[in-house]
Amino acid sequence: MTIPAESKLYLDLCQKIAKARSAFRIGHQDDIRISDEEIQKRIDENKPLLNIQKLKIEGKFLDEFFRDFLPLMEKHKVFSREEVRNFLANKEKINLSELVRSVLSKDLQSLKSLSSQYQIGIDSLLFVGLNLSQAVLELYADKLKQKVDQENWLKGNCPVCGSYPAIEKLRRDDGKRILRCNFCGTEWHHKRIMCPFCGNEDHNSLRYFFIDEDSSTEKSAFRVDVCNKCKRYIKTLDERKLPESEKPDLYLENLNTIYLDVLAQKDGYKSPTYWMVTLSEDLFV
Ligand SMILES: [Zn+2]
Ligand SMILES: [Zn+2]
Repeated sequence: MTIPAESKLYLDLCQKIAKARSAFRIGHQDDIRISDEEIQKRIDENKPLLNIQKLKIEGKFLDEFFRDFLPLMEKHKVFSREEVRNFLANKEKINLSELVRSVLSKDLQSLKSLSSQYQIGIDSLLFVGLNLSQAVLELYADKLKQKVDQENWLKGNCPVCGSYPAIEKLRRDDGKRILRCNFCGTEWHHKRIMCPFCGNEDHNSLRYFFIDEDSSTEKSAFRVDVCNKCKRYIKTLDERKLPESEKPDLYLENLNTIYLDVLAQKDGYKSPTYWMVTLSEDLFV
């Protein structure tokens, strides 16, 4: 499937930002503020390790990442020049912690008021807010994921931050189903026949589809699993169908397979993640 030039620009920008986030995390490993007692309490309660509504978010930490981020946004011209200019002009005034908090708590009203206050489109604001939130959550996930009890966390949401996956893989070595959190990047096991979003195990209402029009090996490694009970979908990469030498990165594969999101949504299935390539209000539901 041909990807339009603007999508290529968008993918390129996302990849560069992902690299910037990785580099940024290396220098901030010690900035995590969470006690062992807090973590143990969450484990005992069988809850995701982070309570993202109550996360401590350092404004200084965000400012630093934001400084690396804006030039990339400016250079890639995915967003209008005027919006990027408004971001640059207001960068000292925009409260980044507040922006991240609005994104993490899916507070569309606050995002809208920030958007009109600074004359920045809500899509651009959400794009920046999501990436800043991801930078924070990935940093926490780096530290916390080894504390996850992989064998006993049988839920469909992320054991670290509680978000839902957008993509999963069937692992090359053993065919195990591994979900990937779309927010903090944590990966965890899940039952093969069970909807991660509503827990449905009835195989009659769980199905998947491939893209018929493209029968090349690489493309057929992807499929979309759908649940007819909750009408949600997840993209699946069957690693066993890829050549041995390929080591797919699910973050990038998720971005590269936006055509599958388009098809699933056309069929009436919803993404479990409330942000997509472009924002529409119903994605917040
Ligand atoms: Zn997560
Ligand atoms: Zn379901």
